[in-house]
Amino acid sequence: MVCRSFLWSGQAYSSKPSNISWKSSCCEKKEGGLGFRDILTWNTAAIGKYVWAVATKQDSIWIKWVSSVYVKDGEWWEYQPNNSASWYWRKICETKEVLKQYYTIAEFSSMSCYSVKDVYQKLTGPKPLVHWDHMVWNRLNTPKHKFICWMAVQDRLQTAARLARIGVCSSPNCLLCDQQEEVHDHLFFACPYSKRCIEEIKSWVGFHTTHSGLQILISRIGNSHQTKFRRQVWYAALAATVYSVWRSRNGSLWDKCIPTVHSTVTRIKQIVRDRIRSVMPRKVSRKDSLWFLTL
Ligand SMILES: [Zn+2]
Repeated sequence: MVCRSFLWSGQAYSSKPSNISWKSSCCEKKEGGLGFRDILTWNTAAIGKYVWAVATKQDSIWIKWVSSVYVKDGEWWEYQPNNSASWYWRKICETKEVLKQYYTIAEFSSMSCYSVKDVYQKLTGPKPLVHWDHMVWNRLNTPKHKFICWMAVQDRLQTAARLARIGVCSSPNCLLCDQQEEVHDHLFFACPYSKRCIEEIKSWVGFHTTHSGLQILISRIGNSHQTKFRRQVWYAALAATVYSVWRSRNGSLWDKCIPTVHSTVTRIKQIVRDRIRSVMPRKVSRKDSLWFLTL
């Protein structure tokens, strides 16, 4: 409920502009979503099992009954119910009409067993995969960092530039430096404040790169020839930095005070250490364990 009211506006929640569309959230994590299912489409896929059962003449009393009472000698794929048919039967026929847009009768009847999940995927269609899901949903990330990173990587946080564009606030300038427009790239990587934070954190975990930008850094970590554990630690440190910069920026707005770079960096290190200690993977090499202890 909290997530819903945060992401989407509505009379029951608030009138603020929505952060991200329902459609963008309603897909697999590897496709950039939150792993939610579109329940209406799932429902259609689930009812489709009855359409399939009639089409393949499954051996059940219910099939025999609807065949003799409704379909009779007609062709099921072309069958239309009359007005006196019951509500549930008309619903099944409506679902058949939806499925006809995606399958031919031959394709549909040739399924040896019915999978709601497969039909759901056919109805929702293929979506391009994203390269950043491993970073955002990394097990070593603190849960609230995952969510802010998921928003940040898609440029969907309510930055001052975004709010000024839709007329919610008067200045588009960065709340940390007041020098540039507060767009995602500036706020997290180009702003003098965040630049110092990210440089200190990169050197802390031994991630040496001159590149900046969330998507680029995620790719660099993903393509690095490090062990899985080190990549996960780097991801967790990057996620914690993004979250903490966002927190400092919000502190400037709500509390009129910005934590020093030193205190933010100290906090990030502490959070990352504590989180990783609490969810330490079982299979970590001795070398990596010793390296982590030095952090
Ligand atoms: Zn700035």
